[in-house]
Amino acid sequence: MRLAVLRERREFEARVAASPETVKKLAALGMTIAVEAGAGTRSGWSDADFAAAGAEIAADAAAALAGAGIVFAVQMPDAAERAAIARGALLVSISNAFADPALVPALAEAGIDAAALEMLPRITRAQSMDVLSSQANLAGYRAVIESAAAFDRGFPMMMTAAGTVPPARVFVIGAGVAGLQAIATARRLGAIVSATDVRPAAKEEIKSLGASFVGVEDEETKAAQTAGGYAKEMSEAFRQKQAALMAETVAKNDIVICTALVMGRKAPVIVTAPMVAAMRAGSVIIDLAADAGGNCAATRPGEAYVTENGVKILGHRNWPARIPVAASSLYARNLLTFLSTFWDKEAKAPKLPETDEIVKGVMLTRGGAVVHPQFLPAQAA
Ligand code: NAD
Repeated sequence: MRLAVLRERREFEARVAASPETVKKLAALGMTIAVEAGAGTRSGWSDADFAAAGAEIAADAAAALAGAGIVFAVQMPDAAERAAIARGALLVSISNAFADPALVPALAEAGIDAAALEMLPRITRAQSMDVLSSQANLAGYRAVIESAAAFDRGFPMMMTAAGTVPPARVFVIGAGVAGLQAIATARRLGAIVSATDVRPAAKEEIKSLGASFVGVEDEETKAAQTAGGYAKEMSEAFRQKQAALMAETVAKNDIVICTALVMGRKAPVIVTAPMVAAMRAGSVIIDLAADAGGNCAATRPGEAYVTENGVKILGHRNWPARIPVAASSLYARNLLTFLSTFWDKEAKAPKLPETDEIVKGVMLTRGGAVVHPQFLPAQAA
């Protein structure tokens, strides 16, 4: 069985779906691995590193994909790349399928069996394959480091002979995987940290990291979590209550780190333009939700800029790709774990039982048909 690792072509993407370490382990399962030339360059791995691990280096995507029964990628390959994927091949990537209604039918039409790893159920058995967690954790860390670099003062309280510098006040919006890592990182740097979330379980998690909880607690927040562990989209009435509290809180803080997401939807706008206007000059907003539209109304996705009142807003897309070596290492291990979990040692081929909870969660298409319940055509669903 041949496995192809593609070079990522999207703007803002610096990661790669395999590392020299995972190439060795994949080869040990009985695969031959073809890595597209230059695939690892932005994650610190040369073609020679992959070759030394046992991979064949393919000149381009078509050469890597020729005869491949398995394809590893970070982002969903574009239409031109997909055209070179063999019918029946298993494609493992982050699909971002909700963003493009034409994608899943096109994958079925092309006969590609697509596994969307961002759709993994949040269960213990899936934790070591969980790409959202591994990448969000690093994004949360990176957000704080970039906010510290952009902030003109400093994070810890410093008592020096020349006087005292007050600590930075950091407010984290959304306390999922990224937000909790942001809280921990900001605390380690010495900031005074507070955070908010709509899920009831988040309050204790925030407090256990030494941050204070700021948030609306009402009947709606008691049921704000789906069975899968994600936040629900909140009502207009809730949003109004939240806005009053946020206006007060955002104005008091130096740095606001936004991480609030709702699976498959546009990110909720929590920091409005008037809230930004009320912040002190030199304050920093980091918007990790920029790819999903942003939690801050003034975010310009893909840009970093300074507002008229002197607030720096960093709305970069794809925060995990800003820490590519660590992000690629963990992403590559997530994919290795996924494939080795569903690997038939005798047949030396993937075996994805239709009844398995993880398989049901991630498979978008199979054998030329759409199989994922969230993407089935209307009458079939
Ligand atoms: P996410 O990236 O979807 O969202 C980030 C955070 O934003 C979440 O905590 C969410 O509640 C919050 N949020 C959404 N709308 C908001 C709003 N209007 N105002 C304030 N906050 C809002 O979340 P995630 O990091 O993927 O984590 C989701 C859940 O899954 C968490 O409970 C996490 O602990 C859990 N989880 C479980 C596993 C596992 O068991 N395998 C693995 C990873 C995460």
